[in-house]
Amino acid sequence: MECANTVRVDLHTHTTASDGELAPQELFAMQAAAGVELLAITDHDTVAGWAKLYSGNPLPSGPLLIPGIEFSASDGRQEVHIVGLRFDPTNRAIGDAITAQAMLRRERAQRIGERFRSLGIEAIFERATEIAGEAAPGRTHFARALVESGRVRDAESAFKRYLGSGKPASVPHQWPAMEQVVSWIRAGGGRAVLAHPAAYALTRTQLQALVQRFAQCGGEAIEVAMPNVEGKQLRMIVELARRYRLLASSGSDFHAPAQRWRLPSQVPALPSDLRPVWHDWS
Ligand code: MN
Ligand code: MN
Ligand code: MN
Repeated sequence: MECANTVRVDLHTHTTASDGELAPQELFAMQAAAGVELLAITDHDTVAGWAKLYSGNPLPSGPLLIPGIEFSASDGRQEVHIVGLRFDPTNRAIGDAITAQAMLRRERAQRIGERFRSLGIEAIFERATEIAGEAAPGRTHFARALVESGRVRDAESAFKRYLGSGKPASVPHQWPAMEQVVSWIRAGGGRAVLAHPAAYALTRTQLQALVQRFAQCGGEAIEVAMPNVEGKQLRMIVELARRYRLLASSGSDFHAPAQRWRLPSQVPALPSDLRPVWHDWS
């Protein structure tokens, strides 16, 4: 995989193992049909989707599937997402990390459920848990439960009225420090990638400081090629990748087929002078 621009790559995707809408098998088939050659399923704080694909029959023809995960972390008050790639999913540090994150998610979901009960809205926690299935219930699942109950028109209204930051059922996360998360990924033999740098509500100076701390604590790569990141924003991220000598990653952050702008075909090529995070994978 020498040339960044000839390999179609998607190293950031979600399935029903977290908050995505496609089952792992469906995601794999969709990516195969899109001509993706190198794929990572990076569900939030779990490798269950990856495990499901690997535990069954041999994979049908399609992309090379590498282990992935998207860990939630904190940098001071800022929530940041760190994608881990090509670690050993059976590694103990990774397993313990997944258990710890799942516990945080469950506790938070229970607290959100309590908020709804105190608002006189019963049984939403139970329904969100059912909708989440094997995944830990998160706000998306609560939103779906609310829509189903007829209390709100759509998921967007669920966030506007109840679940969004500062709203009555909003419970902030308490994620582990970024350094901790990077060290889990490294202990598992993987590469830590700073996810969607353009998605944080940070000034240029704050983003630079974040990237610097990420690189200092052992982060090796940053997402550069993503849908809708272009122009000035893209140039700034490319510059940060160069300055802190980070490898560059590509990913759609695909969650659902209705998000046409997150289909794998929407991931642009990496700028040719950056070194791809997959440059030495064979
Ligand atoms: Mn998500
Ligand atoms: Mn994310
Ligand atoms: Mn994601």
